[in-house]
Amino acid sequence: GSWYTVKSEAGDFIECRMKGKFRIKGIKSTNPIAVGDIVDYELEETSDAVTGTIHHIHERKNYIVRKAVNLSHQMHIIASNIDRVFLLVTVNNPPTTFNFIDRFLVTAEAYGIEAILVFNKIDTLDEVTLDEQLYMQHVYQEIGYQCLRVSAAERKGIDALKELMKGKVSMFSGHSGVGKSTLVNAMEPSLHLKTKTISEASKQGQHTTTFAEMYDLSFGARIIDTPGIKGFGMVDMDPSEISGYFPEFFRLKDQCKFNNCLHKEEPHCAIKAALDNDEIAWSRYNSYLKILEGDDEHYRTDTYDE
Ligand code: GDP
Ligand code: ZN
Repeated sequence: GSWYTVKSEAGDFIECRMKGKFRIKGIKSTNPIAVGDIVDYELEETSDAVTGTIHHIHERKNYIVRKAVNLSHQMHIIASNIDRVFLLVTVNNPPTTFNFIDRFLVTAEAYGIEAILVFNKIDTLDEVTLDEQLYMQHVYQEIGYQCLRVSAAERKGIDALKELMKGKVSMFSGHSGVGKSTLVNAMEPSLHLKTKTISEASKQGQHTTTFAEMYDLSFGARIIDTPGIKGFGMVDMDPSEISGYFPEFFRLKDQCKFNNCLHKEEPHCAIKAALDNDEIAWSRYNSYLKILEGDDEHYRTDTYDE
């Protein structure tokens, strides 16, 4: 609706409304304000309530969007001012593919948000799936992404995760069933996120609210919960900019013969050379080609339920 709950510096919650029109540079959005925004407001005291009027939104260091439903060319701001996004990965239950991870990482790079991979359910791994998990971790650590191994169910690795969240605003993403709710519960037992999608929740007859919220956790971390949204959508990218979001490609691309090299069939391509020398993982290169082709419909990471 048109009311927003603002947390004051003193820690009070104040119901606020917007005053005036707020436009966001560069995009048309259906909502003027989102969870994570830092705002200035004025208090209005009446005999029975204290409310506020928001008159200024501070510049956002980043924000994530999805396409607005039924309104092409319009965006909906999901959240803003996010420090870290944690992608929960399970090898086989449910399966998380390299392609899904890479699309997620590319999007995080494009948004300018640090992404960290959290391999969950390590308690369930057997000899084969352990090898797979360690290989996946190796691929991403090599190119500079932090990786954690946790078991939400057995509360392993939780302290290391909390450490990475302290003093920051975090979001959690990943396929349904990877263990987001279980993990958040292991960190903060009193907090129950609305990560279940609306349809899942209504099947269970629960009353759910669809608005996003930020929570202060007991160990000095903040978390943004966006019900119904499990990831974030691909942003529209120009083919030439995609390799800039693959850090291991980015480091090499000045060595390609052509400065507009797309690293496909061009001669003297530094990326292809690195691929042949096993310095770049084939899974990463394959993901790059798929993103270049633009067939993102099958790989959407923003599963949003109406
Ligand atoms: P979400 O959809 O991402 O929120 O996933 P849930 O937290 O609901 O977890 C899905 C299922 O996986 C539940 O049955 C959990 O008990 C289970 N689960 C979550 N984390 C772990 C884990 O670390 N180990 C094991 N064995 N099961 C887990
Ligand atoms: Zn090249």
